[in-house]
Amino acid sequence: MIQRPEKLFFLFKSVNSLNGVGPRIGNLLKKFLGDRLIDILFHLPVNIIDRTYSSNISLAEPGKIITLELTVGSHIIPKNKRLPYRVNCFDQSGKIDLVFFKSNQKYLKQILPCNKKCIVSGKIETYNGNKQITHPDRIGSIDQLNEIKTIEPVYPLSAGLTQKILNKLVKQITKNIPDLNEWHREEIIIKNSWTSWKESLQISHNPKNYLELKNNFFTRERLAFDELFANQIALSIYRKKIKESVSQGIIGDKSFIKKVIDNTGFKLTNSQFSAINEIISDLSSSSPMIRLLQGDVGSGKTIVSLISMLYVIYAGYQTAIMVPTSLLANQHFKNFLKLTHNLKINISLLTRLTNEKEKKKIHNNLKNGTIDLLVGTHSVFQKNITFKNLAFIVIDEQHRFGVKQRMALSNKSINLNTLFMTATPIPRTLSLTNYGNMEVSKITEKPINKAKIKTFAIPLSKLQSIYERVKYNIDIDLKAFWICPLIDESETLDISNVKKRYEELSKLLPKKNIGLIHGKVPQDDRDKTMKEFLDGDINLLVGTTVIEVGIDIPDANLIIIEHAERFGLAQLHQLRGRVGRGTKDSNCILLYDQPLTQNAHQRIDAMRKTEDGFEIAEKDLILRGPGEILGTRQSGLPDFKIVNLEDHMHLIELANKETNIVDKSDPLLKSIRGEHIRNLLHIFEKEDAIRYILSG
Ligand code: ADP
Ligand code: MG
Repeated sequence: MIQRPEKLFFLFKSVNSLNGVGPRIGNLLKKFLGDRLIDILFHLPVNIIDRTYSSNISLAEPGKIITLELTVGSHIIPKNKRLPYRVNCFDQSGKIDLVFFKSNQKYLKQILPCNKKCIVSGKIETYNGNKQITHPDRIGSIDQLNEIKTIEPVYPLSAGLTQKILNKLVKQITKNIPDLNEWHREEIIIKNSWTSWKESLQISHNPKNYLELKNNFFTRERLAFDELFANQIALSIYRKKIKESVSQGIIGDKSFIKKVIDNTGFKLTNSQFSAINEIISDLSSSSPMIRLLQGDVGSGKTIVSLISMLYVIYAGYQTAIMVPTSLLANQHFKNFLKLTHNLKINISLLTRLTNEKEKKKIHNNLKNGTIDLLVGTHSVFQKNITFKNLAFIVIDEQHRFGVKQRMALSNKSINLNTLFMTATPIPRTLSLTNYGNMEVSKITEKPINKAKIKTFAIPLSKLQSIYERVKYNIDIDLKAFWICPLIDESETLDISNVKKRYEELSKLLPKKNIGLIHGKVPQDDRDKTMKEFLDGDINLLVGTTVIEVGIDIPDANLIIIEHAERFGLAQLHQLRGRVGRGTKDSNCILLYDQPLTQNAHQRIDAMRKTEDGFEIAEKDLILRGPGEILGTRQSGLPDFKIVNLEDHMHLIELANKETNIVDKSDPLLKSIRGEHIRNLLHIFEKEDAIRYILSG
């Protein structure tokens, strides 16, 4: 373990060290935010309550939050338990009641002693023509006026926590934030008029007006920049570590390429050719490759990866491809066998479903070098498998698997080249946050003989006509997907929606022709259903977005996306990419519920107007509305604590530039400033990055 600098100890202290945190609050906080002070410090307010307005009772407007200076008259004990306890109060201008339900009378007598002046803050109501405040937010003595008459931050809460508690805790923490040396260049701080890290946190927790709550307010902007910078620096360290590892240039013979292409039965596009050339030339150089292959759904990345792997195999090394699901692994495996049937290549498939005996055999053959190409799922690669001479690994369709995760594979081989393949064409700015500055190859053309996809937007009210269309499709033996939205895998409500749709469609079509797939269906059953769909035993697959990733069913030609308005643009595009993969012209029907928000309208419109994934990705970025889009978690971007990509996009490039400067001048963070940057890495818990520079 890397020791944290002493100056940072405070930030990582347990929340239990705070006054007012017992086991109950401690547990609530732990579940909600985390159990260290920094977790609370990074939880920023979303609103404010203004208690600065005070006046006299007669001018106090109902509905407003007001701070009043009152004299306590009498305490009225209720005649029966259902009635509230009242405290009559007054000032020169009039009378007001403080109202308490289920109250502790002794306590109230103590904090509101008769004939004494007090300060009360809360929302004014009227009841039977009289003014009252029910459960005042604040009650204090006259000398607490300044303490009460403030603007209070409002935090997102979880059940059991209150603003009062959180406010109290935050105050204790912000008072004691350590003074840390600035890790950014002075020029950047001045240019952006930023304050120090400590001050930025303090101001962010103590907003004075609504403007200060905005993500683009300078204090929050600075905190977000810190996070992006830490992320970029860490990525750059991982990358450097990979690049510096020993690697021989892989020099192979390319004569096999023609044979493979002949096996495909199609001609590669120019884009595919140039991607292959870029990859091969990178593989031949003496520093390990880490390259991103971006290409829209259906652009033909698989064959590019296969040819690249074969190049490495013919040079005498082993290769592997990692995919997110067993199903996809299966598909690649079969496809590769077919495309290499006349090449004397040894390919194996390793997934969760592989039986123990077979697994053992594969493990042995990887170790002794018999296997040339391994197709497997991510989970398999995390386990302890060893290769004789793995030199190239392809990571398919998984944005979550970034440079950081790739580092963990370093123990598999010292001579490892990596190709990430992504189908969501994330714009460069965003890809920086997951892959850092890495080489990119792009497939920009689609195969020419590709099917056309027509996209229609139809209101849900016309469901019946869609049913008929589906029935027609199935009757003539075509294949269709029916997608229902899913907010969260655990939400039973969504599952019930899918099931309901499945039941309804079952009445329409013979049940054996329909399959159902969602998160609660066990993986084995899912795989079985998918296979039946692929083989044509099932013609209609009803499911949630679990079917989204990568799967290639060339003869599927209709996809219906229900509640299309709830999906993000990139996700809609991914889903649409499930059809039109073969030569059959295909249709995509976006079923939407009215009324559409303007943003949803624009998304659906964009889907109808273009099939170009890169265009869609850019548009998605512009349109992405907070909270409105499902599945943003699947977008594959890192989970940020403070950064909000919508508002902080402009900072990504800057973080990248600043990272490059550090990279050139002080790559191992050895200078004094380098030490300060290490503090930042500790704050964002990039300890593994620090470990790499210490070992390098
Ligand atoms: P993706 O980039 O989405 O992974 P795939 O590699 O699965 O795309 O290719 C999609 C489909 O297009 C596959 O059925 C594949 O065989 C086919 N394909 C790939 N390249 C070409 C090409 N140049 N011409 C025609 N079909 C192609
Ligand atoms: Mg693919």
